[in-house]
Amino acid sequence: MGLATESALPEVSLRIGAASRTSGAGVHHHVNPATGAFDAPVPMAGVDDVDEAVHAAHQAFAVWKATRAGTRARALLELARLVEGHTEEFAALATADNGTPQATAGAMVGAAAEWIRYYGGWADKLPLGRVTSVAGAGGSFGHTLRQPYGVIGVVITWNAPLMSLAMKVPAALAAGNTVVVKPSELTPFSAMLFADLVREAGIPDGVFNVVTGGAEAGAVLVAHPLVKKVTFTGGPETARKITAACAETFKPVVLELGGKSANLVFADADLDAAALHAAFMAFGIMTGQACALPTRLLVEDSIHDEFVAKVAAIAGSFKVGHPQEPDTVCGPVINQGAIDRIEAMVAQAQNDGARVVTGGARLAGDLAAGFYYPPTVMADVDPASELAQKEVFGPVLAVTRFTDEAHALFLANDTDYGLSGCIWTSDARRAVRLVEQLETGEVVVNGAPNAVAERPFGGIGHSGTGNEGGLEGLEEFFWTKSVAYGNG
Ligand code: NAD
Repeated sequence: MGLATESALPEVSLRIGAASRTSGAGVHHHVNPATGAFDAPVPMAGVDDVDEAVHAAHQAFAVWKATRAGTRARALLELARLVEGHTEEFAALATADNGTPQATAGAMVGAAAEWIRYYGGWADKLPLGRVTSVAGAGGSFGHTLRQPYGVIGVVITWNAPLMSLAMKVPAALAAGNTVVVKPSELTPFSAMLFADLVREAGIPDGVFNVVTGGAEAGAVLVAHPLVKKVTFTGGPETARKITAACAETFKPVVLELGGKSANLVFADADLDAAALHAAFMAFGIMTGQACALPTRLLVEDSIHDEFVAKVAAIAGSFKVGHPQEPDTVCGPVINQGAIDRIEAMVAQAQNDGARVVTGGARLAGDLAAGFYYPPTVMADVDPASELAQKEVFGPVLAVTRFTDEAHALFLANDTDYGLSGCIWTSDARRAVRLVEQLETGEVVVNGAPNAVAERPFGGIGHSGTGNEGGLEGLEEFFWTKSVAYGNG
């Protein structure tokens, strides 16, 4: 198995055009979340580095835009094949990047390949425009023409670096744009192998560029005048700054932000399936560090105690441990800052009247050096409290009981966020009613998968704006020109 020992870590470098180089602007020391130890230097791109990368992407745009659509499609499909062929390596890098357990990391490589293949499939079947009027007596022939923007600034966070790349870059490239990616300095490794494979797939130098670095590099990238659109995944504070920077030049921006998604479990649901889903989604997917996870569990009164006990028992059975051990379900959280935030939120929740059903304290012993927090179920969570309203981004599930469907709907929608929603019921009419009334970008019923390539994924409210996935995700990377031909 491809375990990412420190010696096997790829050298982190800026990938600008054909160059792979370091930066004079500074270095960040990557910390392995599983051990708390420094393991690799990460060059921090400065203003000049970002400028050079944007110019490389700008130059390559002329070439890529003029490349036959079939050639672009073949290159992206080849990239999907290469990514899938490097599953073990990517899984090992995800573990090194942020402590993703191997089993989850491997599954995510498959999912990333699916996203790349999906947009590779679109590349030569693009809906490039539509006829809007036809020439007739005194009329004109009119149509729309969808055109790529040029350089897209891609700023991503640390929780799923390969997935974030796969959800943004192939769609941008399929549409004929070029990209400059700024990964999080906390997770630089996956982007290095991705860049190698982009090149191996035959995508010309300069079409895909990486500037490793922190907030400063991100800020320079989004404000650069040659960057024509920004797509961002991360937190709301950063999103506000990016939106403000983009407002200066009216630059469009896609924002994929956080969530506090509700999972509504009714008494008529398949309770065993719902409990497994609730526990796995809250704790087993990246140890609670993902945006669309249902982190608020709303349970009908009559089954509340039985159901919470089931979820807690499953959560308690998940192995928390080193992410490279094959049976680990929950790995570490990203860093000490995350541990501090989780501890403070659990303490505040208890002050607000919530009760710890399982978990609730950082793990010590063999795991003390890394950043390990166990699956934690909190019951009797006041819907107005911090734990019900704010994203933890860690393995903490907030449980609140409801009396009837109207109460469940009120609680679900009583949030600033609007990313995802889950419904568990065997009543199809109820499911349809709730699907229509939940104020979220996505709703999944009875355990359907979320964030798949074929369906758009995106939030409303504080969860962001715009989409990734589906035709909508592709359309983010075009602007529409309106064309008419007169008779003169
Ligand atoms: P963050 O917002 O702190 O950082 C994200 C990225 O932005 C990093 O690369 C960072 O260097 C960069 N950045 C920071 N300041 C910047 C600036 N002023 N200008 C440009 N770039 C800047 O990320 P975080 O808050 O630690 O990430 C976690 C958040 O991401 C959570 O809220 C989570 O829900 C969200 N998230 C959303 C999705 C989604 O698809 N909706 C997916 C994963 C994570």
